[in-house]
Amino acid sequence: MLIDAHYHLVAEEWYPEGWWQTVSSMYLNGMKALGMEMPMDTIRQTLIPTMWDPEGEALINDMVTNGIDKTVLLPMDYWLMYGEPKSSLEKQLKAYAKLQRKHPDKIIALATVDPRRPDAVKIVERAIKEWGLKGLNLYPQTGFFVNDPKTYHVLEKVAELGVPLTCHTGQLGAAPLRGKYGDPIYLDDVIQDFPNLTITAGHMAFGWHEQLFYLAGLKYNIMTDISAWQDVAKFNFRKFCTVLRNALDRLGKDRVLFGTDNPFVAALMSTKEYADLIKGLPQNSPDGITFTEDEVNAILGDNAARIFSSKS
Ligand SMILES: [Zn+2]
Repeated sequence: MLIDAHYHLVAEEWYPEGWWQTVSSMYLNGMKALGMEMPMDTIRQTLIPTMWDPEGEALINDMVTNGIDKTVLLPMDYWLMYGEPKSSLEKQLKAYAKLQRKHPDKIIALATVDPRRPDAVKIVERAIKEWGLKGLNLYPQTGFFVNDPKTYHVLEKVAELGVPLTCHTGQLGAAPLRGKYGDPIYLDDVIQDFPNLTITAGHMAFGWHEQLFYLAGLKYNIMTDISAWQDVAKFNFRKFCTVLRNALDRLGKDRVLFGTDNPFVAALMSTKEYADLIKGLPQNSPDGITFTEDEVNAILGDNAARIFSSKS
């Protein structure tokens, strides 16, 4: 079983232009760090449009071709940071729901909302109850804390509906995104105040992975995904293996999920290449670090299948 538990289906009109500029600048910086140069305009005009897939055709094609059994889709809401996009949040969420209806065996689509929207609770309730979305994705780096009372109103609804939460953690995103909101320590309140909520901390909390592993080691309703660590896996394999081993030792094999953050990092490593890298860990890990087949199977799909099983 292979499940990508962290994927963003994206379309130009779902997000404000400011967001695409931010993604372009992240690419610019990422490429510079790798010794590659490409003008910002070229990135925006040629690279960014390759990610747009509003109908999900490219995603489904990639899944069928490469044996990816299921993909968890995470929408995003940038309204307060950049202004409303050309196409409303409702349209984005309905497009996610539509793709899930078309491919119920392949797609697990979540909802999202910025909790500062005045109708945030109502949006989440409609998205899950009426449109059939299977959980909630939060992106606090747009400027809110997960333990803020406004976020709590939304989380109360999510807990009441009995669906899981994915929360982006870590110091991700170029300006104007703010890393401080992604500190996993703010999830400590959520974990304790919502003991029945299943929470996945996305990205192993870049920059704070050790803190996340210690926090999660002592609380049991939180897991993490390994999305967007492909650059470390590719260019510093020993470090990647060390961090993943650390995650497994602290959280156990049942609380670490495979995820990619694609299409944003697909240019660096495809979903299949990242999955193959994880599959090969028992044979290919560096001296002194070991992984078992059981751990690999749990990460690649069994854990995500369990979290979403009763909801899909
Ligand atoms: Zn993401």
